[in-house]
Amino acid sequence: TDRVITAESVTEDEAIERALRPKRLVDYVGQPAVVEQMEIFIPAARQRGEALDHVLIFGPPGLGKTTLANIIAHEMGVGLKQTSGPVLERPGDLAALLTNLEPNDVLFIDEIHRLSAVVEEILYPAMEDHQIDIMIGEGPAARSIKLDLPPFTLVGATTRAGMLTGPLRDRFGIIQRLEFYSVADLTRIVSRSAQLMGVSIDAGGAQEIAARARGTPRIANRLLRRVRDFAEVRGNGTVDQPMANAALDLLQVDARGFDQQDRRLLEALIHKFDGGPVGLDNIAAAIGEARDTIEDVLEPFLIQQGFLVRTARGRMATRQTYAHFGFRPPSAFES
Ligand code: ADP
Repeated sequence: TDRVITAESVTEDEAIERALRPKRLVDYVGQPAVVEQMEIFIPAARQRGEALDHVLIFGPPGLGKTTLANIIAHEMGVGLKQTSGPVLERPGDLAALLTNLEPNDVLFIDEIHRLSAVVEEILYPAMEDHQIDIMIGEGPAARSIKLDLPPFTLVGATTRAGMLTGPLRDRFGIIQRLEFYSVADLTRIVSRSAQLMGVSIDAGGAQEIAARARGTPRIANRLLRRVRDFAEVRGNGTVDQPMANAALDLLQVDARGFDQQDRRLLEALIHKFDGGPVGLDNIAAAIGEARDTIEDVLEPFLIQQGFLVRTARGRMATRQTYAHFGFRPPSAFES
């Protein structure tokens, strides 16, 4: 995707994200409920010399799931091995990872909802009893062997709560849901990143970027890089509010942080479907976008901001949606 404000990680992000990722819980900005709990659970497990209970992290892309997994390992003083649901194709792939863990290590599985059923089955006894059953050989000579594993912490990340199977979810002792970040928290993240990147920025510049970053640290950091480019070419390299504003207008990110794709979705809702309700498939077809992208990437922020609602009959625009585009809402909204 070439979307500037996509929350999903693109190749360009990878190296810089590693550099910007906070390593300790005190540097993890925002998410007070999550931080407060982890500040208890981590030292408690450490003091007992045990592995931390398995942790499941929910939240839209770019909100800090991978960052939190790395912080957990760092604060526990253990190693981290990282993989993802779609990468683990066969039970043996997971068995190889599990049998290579050191005691109390963190195994981070991103997109854990995309594990295949056969791989997921290996995970149950591994999580519960630190054991795996694997089949070796084929046909009549095939037999199952049991392997003991060291104690470990599984950290699973997923974008949507509803996509995990019940038995898997039940095996996590700690469940954390990440929320979209406030403008104040994103301002702190932008200022910190600018400092690490050696970008000169003032408070107004940081706040302007934060306000248009869809509540998402990954987007805030990416917008900062684009605004820096603009400031270097059009100005003297310093990012202030007018400079940030001009750069973000050029990127067609509006005052609410919506980009063309968001606007296409909302405008289709208003113009093609009279504000809804309309089913996800119809919206997807109307704007030529995949269902999953709409559900995972576009909608969560629009819903959180009150620009779209999900009802039993389908998606609907709100009064704010009409106001944003300068239209009078139909009379149904006047009640
Ligand atoms: P996810 O795994 O949820 O897609 P990441 O953990 O990769 O998101 O976070 C994306 C980027 O945003 C990281 O590079 C990190 O620098 C930044 N980030 C995320 N959460 C925070 C936070 N709470 N404080 C500071 N920076 C953050």
